[in-house]
Amino acid sequence: MKRQCAWCGRSFEWEGVGRPPKYCRRSHRQRHYEARKEAERLGIGGVLVTDHAWQQLRDAAYRLEASVGDAEVDLADDDPVGAAEGLLDAARTLLGALPEPVATTE
Ligand SMILES: [Zn+2]
Repeated sequence: MKRQCAWCGRSFEWEGVGRPPKYCRRSHRQRHYEARKEAERLGIGGVLVTDHAWQQLRDAAYRLEASVGDAEVDLADDDPVGAAEGLLDAARTLLGALPEPVATTE
């Protein structure tokens, strides 16, 4: 059964019995707990990420946006493989840049 981790958002496979896990690994359960505690301590509502993590995500989104434009040109030039390769590369970069919250109420 495919599950989505409540902390990192990545998908993971689960084949056990009983209540399915919410986290892909034990450390993510702990980090989520700590981030909720930190949000409580700071008195914030929502999600707090570091400037660095936010910048990485924005850069990756910018790169994906550029890749969409490149892919449109590749497709117009009848190069679907080139289009797919560029999009895949940018999509993987974006997935790798998903930030982990410092604090969260979610
Ligand atoms: Zn996870």
